[in-house]
Amino acid sequence: MDRRKCIFCRYYRARGNSLGRIYCPRCKRRYSFKRAERLGKIIEYFALEIPANKASKVLHLNYKTVYRVYQRLREKIAGKTKEEFRKLSGEIEIDDAYFGGRRKGNRGRAASGKTLVLGMLERDGRVFTTLPENLELGQVLDAISRHAEKGSVFYTDQFRSYKSLFIYGRHLSLNHAEKFANGRVHINGLEGFWSFAKERMLKYHGISKKHFALYLKELEFRYNHRKQDLIKIFTELW
Ligand SMILES: [Zn+2]
Repeated sequence: MDRRKCIFCRYYRARGNSLGRIYCPRCKRRYSFKRAERLGKIIEYFALEIPANKASKVLHLNYKTVYRVYQRLREKIAGKTKEEFRKLSGEIEIDDAYFGGRRKGNRGRAASGKTLVLGMLERDGRVFTTLPENLELGQVLDAISRHAEKGSVFYTDQFRSYKSLFIYGRHLSLNHAEKFANGRVHINGLEGFWSFAKERMLKYHGISKKHFALYLKELEFRYNHRKQDLIKIFTELW
């Protein structure tokens, strides 16, 4: 961390005194270098997916201090996702998944203890998730029409609630038996996201629905930016 670079506006002539207090002549902010450095470390650990309890031990910080930064980052991520949202378009994979359960539940029904997630993935693009109450046709169509452009090409499996998608665009459903025969008709991209997210969600076993939504948006963001420098992105976000 460079003492001369203001952490708020990145101006390159911030001045520090012997007590470690920094003053930035451009944005006029004053802050403690030590605190800023500590915050930078917490953000870095968050970006590296180190759990808050472990990070607090390694950094010799109070667990609550670290946890609060982590949660605030998740809120900022969710806010940014919402702010930057634009409808998915082109070729879109659609699929649903249950999180948090041990056994496979009856699809389309509220499986106890599990959280239903509806995912949409733009081919070669972004993934976007929503949390519908169930997989009834109305819920599915509502979620898709609010987040995907009309006239897109939709790839799904053969679940009944997806059958009416033809009214909103071009619908191609994959037949599992022919899965490998059909070149473009697949939902492999979304299946990749499900395993990415499920593997990480295991750490948060038994969290509340409110927290689940926040963690899911975090994972969605991480997935969409997986080829980028997350430390930099999260630091700027803060
Ligand atoms: Zn500044």
